[in-house]
Order: sequence, then structure tokens, then C-alpha cells
Amino acid sequence: MYMLIFCQSPLILPVQEFFITLSTEIIYKGMEGNSGSLYERLMSDIHMQEGLSACINCGTCTAICPAAMFYKYDPREIVVTVASRDEQKIEELLKSDTIWACGECMSCKTRCPRGNAPGLVIIALRVLSEETGFFVESEKGRQVLAIKRMIGQSILDTGYCVWFDHLNLGAFPEQGPNWQWVRDNASEVLDKTGASYRKETSGALRTIPQKDLDELHKIFEVTGGMKRYETIENFSRKKAEEIGLQFDETNDCEYFQHVYSYNSHKLENNEG
Ligand code: SF4
Ligand code: SF4
Repeated sequence: MYMLIFCQSPLILPVQEFFITLSTEIIYKGMEGNSGSLYERLMSDIHMQEGLSACINCGTCTAICPAAMFYKYDPREIVVTVASRDEQKIEELLKSDTIWACGECMSCKTRCPRGNAPGLVIIALRVLSEETGFFVESEKGRQVLAIKRMIGQSILDTGYCVWFDHLNLGAFPEQGPNWQWVRDNASEVLDKTGASYRKETSGALRTIPQKDLDELHKIFEVTGGMKRYETIENFSRKKAEEIGLQFDETNDCEYFQHVYSYNSHKLENNEG
């Protein structure tokens, strides 16, 4: 469940988060233009309503949390900050790296004596961070752009979050030269694995029919997914202008390359 993409790259956002964010689009569709306080906006999210009732500050969630082992990250602290209703502290949280460390494994939910799920609270925080544009204020938050462009676009183009032909191999140097060989011999190699690569039939890696892709686009439009993509692009563009990095729609632009490759290691827990 704790599935990190590009595990050898500085990107730490989980694939699962991406899908949770998509489902969140549906939940948030009626919230656009919401001008309440940050706390009110958070509390109008079903994730908050399901994820947090009363916290007794016991720290069990932090003790069980796998992300807390590797990062300077404490779900108990996050829950307490949200519950404090302190707008300034909530804003700081939305602008911080911290909320991007969670792997959404939901181990916290299984152990919390109050039945809370800090992981759901964090989903609501991430969504609000994207809606408000606060995500561009943190190193890990800015990586949302990379997830949107690399995985989000792949879903729209191919129907798969990761599609064999869609990957830019240069972005994954840790995979070494063999990937290119596999790509050059894809049909033969993938046939041997039992995949239906590029075939219009059932099975893994089959070609998704255009009518299904059209339907997928429609779902993204109707549920607000496209609008969220636009929001991420727009706030990222503004941030690029602010810090003086060239920005365009390609993954070769200076801002994308910076976001994708820079890792300060500040969030990592080096004490363990
Ligand atoms: S385990 Fe539950 S009650 Fe304890 S600190 Fe975490 S959220 Fe609060
Ligand atoms: S879902 Fe809960 S236990 Fe899992 S990484 Fe997030 S905060 Fe930690």
C-alpha cells in the first residue's frame, strides 16, 4: 500500500495519492469558490468529517506511521494543528513540506483509539493546498506539477497512470540502459509476460479504445479534474515567474526540471 513512485528519485508523492485526489475532485466539485476560513473549508470536506472527531493527543498514529520513520513528519501534530482552528498555523501547514510525506497507507486509522484517520485529514489538507496555491510554497508541494504532467497526462492520453511508451526514459536514469532495450523489443518481451501490449483485446497493457478515452476526458471535465490540472499549472507558472525560472508546457522547461530533480533532503529524518 505504501507505494512511492520513482523511489530512487527525489519525488516522494505516492501514486495512491493521485487516485485519491481524483476521487476528491468529485467531493470538492461543489466547493469551488468557497470563501470560508481555511478551517471551514477543510471541515466541509468529507475526508475531514470521516477522518477526525476528537483527538486525545495520544500519539498512537505517529508511533504506527511508516512515513514518520523516514521523514520529519508527525501525524499527531498535524491533527492537533488542524483541530486548534488556528488559521495561521493551518496556512503554515498548507505551505509546508510536511503534508506531502504521508503515503496514505491508513495504518493510522487502524490503531487510533478514537477512530480518527490522520491520513484522511492529510488528503483534505493536500487538496486545499492545491486549491489555494499554497502547494508551490514548499519543495515537496511543487512536485505536484511533476505528478500532474507525468502521471495525470498519461492517464488522459493512454488510460494508464504509467504507460510503457509514455515514459521519458531520460527522467529515470537509475533504470540504466536496459530500459531502452526493453522498449526497442517491447512487443516480443511483453508478449512473453502474457501482456496484451498494444492489442485491442482484454488483458494488461491493452490499447484503451478511443471511445473509452473520450469518456475518461469527460469524467475529468465533469468532476473538476481538468480544472484542478489547470489550477496546478497556473500556480506553478506564477511560482516560476517569481523565482525567475523559464516555464512552458514541456517537461524540459527550467521550472519542471528544477522541481523534478531538486532535493534538499530537509524533510528526511536522519536521526533514526
Ligand atoms: S492516534 Fe488518534 S487520538 Fe491519538 S493522536 Fe493520533 S489521531 Fe489523535
Ligand atoms: S496514512 Fe497515516 S500511517 Fe499512513 S503514512 Fe499517512 S499518516 Fe502515516
